[in-house]
Amino acid sequence: GSTIGILGGGQLGRMLSAAASRLGLKTHIYNDTPDAPAFHVAAKGSVGDYDDLDAVASFARQVDAVTCEFENVPAAALEAAGAEAPVFPPVKSFEVAQDRLTEKDFVSALGIAVAPYAAIDTLADLKESILRVPPPCLLKTRRFGYDGKGQARIHTLCEAESAWESIGEAPAILEGMVAFERELSVVTVRGRDGTVRFYDVVENVHKDGILDTSAVPAKIPSALETEAQAIAGKIAEALGHVGVLTVEMFQTGGDKPGLTVNEIAPRVHNSGHWTQDACLVSQFENHVRAICGWPLGDVARHSDAVMTNLIGSEADDWRRYAAEPGTAVHLYGKAEARPGRKMGHINRISPKT
Ligand code: ATP
Ligand code: MG
Ligand code: MG
Repeated sequence: GSTIGILGGGQLGRMLSAAASRLGLKTHIYNDTPDAPAFHVAAKGSVGDYDDLDAVASFARQVDAVTCEFENVPAAALEAAGAEAPVFPPVKSFEVAQDRLTEKDFVSALGIAVAPYAAIDTLADLKESILRVPPPCLLKTRRFGYDGKGQARIHTLCEAESAWESIGEAPAILEGMVAFERELSVVTVRGRDGTVRFYDVVENVHKDGILDTSAVPAKIPSALETEAQAIAGKIAEALGHVGVLTVEMFQTGGDKPGLTVNEIAPRVHNSGHWTQDACLVSQFENHVRAICGWPLGDVARHSDAVMTNLIGSEADDWRRYAAEPGTAVHLYGKAEARPGRKMGHINRISPKT
């Protein structure tokens, strides 16, 4: 049997490992701390720094293919791994997704709408650019942001300076606030042979910058669903992506709906967790299939689903959820329920409408 190496040991790595295991494959996890959720499920775990290129290379030598479960893997680590084993998704997907400025440039160059934006390197940049990208707007660090971290909302011009300080004066991007009707995402999988499949479009609700619920079907016209999938397909193609790719979008406009891309994730995604219980083949299995060069699995949805994240102490109620009919409970085995920490999720399943 083959072994898949996964850089990153969070819950996404854990669920990838479980899916690989069902296909008779082993996983070997590389993570920078020992207390990682994926270590409990994988056949093997290694602890090492992502900047320790010798350690990353020796990890890659022990496996048949390398993938990642988080997008901030240093490019040098991907290259070190790539010298020893095939790495999927390709480095290009990470380069684009790791930097919000590169990402916006890339997506808009494909003729896809994004929020108005400007590159910000200094407070002077911000003071000048805010005239072109006026409040309400958002200042976001270019790199390393997740769950809404590294972001500051600017409601009026006089908040610019405090926003700049609050994000740590790091290289940033200023984004116009999009007045959206709803947030959508498309979970896409692209195989090594270029085959592309799309899961049904997901409707997402965020709470305090963190994903709260993901529902399918999204309450959108079918033409918009097709358009959303076409956008995701165009991006996956342009990247030469292999594996799962998720594209977050805003639906704008009342009667004449349009789509604006927010960001992309070159990996399995929280808004795709419903596929575990509402599809024959989940996003996790399809990612494994894609990177191993297997035929992609059926992405058809057999049920309606609402995924709800269990954040922090919300996971304490797992017994109540476990007793609910039509509900599948997924827990990540994290010991400490810190506020804002993703501890698990539930998928509430109902007959397809
Ligand atoms: P993730 O955990 O999804 O990676 P992130 O920290 O990378 O999140 P974003 O997805 O950019 O952050 O923003 C988090 C949320 O903030 C979005 O889902 C959306 O609700 C809101 N948001 C971000 N950018 C904008 C924008 N330009 N206009 C309106 N809302 C926005
Ligand atoms: Mg993000
Ligand atoms: Mg996001």
